[in-house]
Amino acid sequence: MWTGIAFSALAMTAIVAVRYLATSGGFALLTRHVRPGYHTKLGPQIRREIGWSFASAAIYGIPAGVVAWGWQEHGWTRIYTGWTDYPVWYLPLAPLIFLFAHDTWFYWTHRWMHRPRLFRIAHAVHHASRPPTAWAAMSFHPWEAITGAVVIPALVFLVPIHVAMLGLVLLVMTVMGVTNHMGWEMFPRRLVHSRLGEWLITASHHQRHHEEYRCNYGLYFRFWDRLCGTDHGLSANI
Ligand SMILES: [Zn+2]
Ligand SMILES: [Zn+2]
Repeated sequence: MWTGIAFSALAMTAIVAVRYLATSGGFALLTRHVRPGYHTKLGPQIRREIGWSFASAAIYGIPAGVVAWGWQEHGWTRIYTGWTDYPVWYLPLAPLIFLFAHDTWFYWTHRWMHRPRLFRIAHAVHHASRPPTAWAAMSFHPWEAITGAVVIPALVFLVPIHVAMLGLVLLVMTVMGVTNHMGWEMFPRRLVHSRLGEWLITASHHQRHHEEYRCNYGLYFRFWDRLCGTDHGLSANI
């Protein structure tokens, strides 16, 4: 049993690390074309970002691996595989619930970590990226990584989700985590400045968090920032 759990945790850590290298590496390469010179002089910072991100990969990978093992071996979690196990309208609803729940958790833990004492302990590592790059997506102190690592493994026990929709959630999580830090906006202006854009977080919004610190705490949606008066709008610099 223990070897099974250990193997699953190791495999998941490797998957998270490779996913990080591929996604961050891909968007970092794109950044070289779109913003030539953006990475100049950031070499030492990028090396630190990659180091912290590898530590985060293990912190994310271990609980995910344990839950994946329990799902395979003992039918833990509410992940389902049959397309008609739940009504078809529920298929797209589940990822929205996941993203909103993750966003809510992130907003409040993130805002909490901006209190001076906690900031120094848990969150200063992430803000040491000035400006952030695509490699900063998982650049967290282990304390902060733990707060992030528990969310999806906990949600799969609470909210039913089709395994493919869970894959979609992880894809959105990975791509937005990377692109929100890469220093340029990949979405068209028309979308970012649209009615819908006023509720979505992309690089222009999160960059401002890295510029001003005490605002724009959200992850995917601007709902909590708007509700709590912490939304300072988009960065003027990207
Ligand atoms: Zn950030
Ligand atoms: Zn922050």
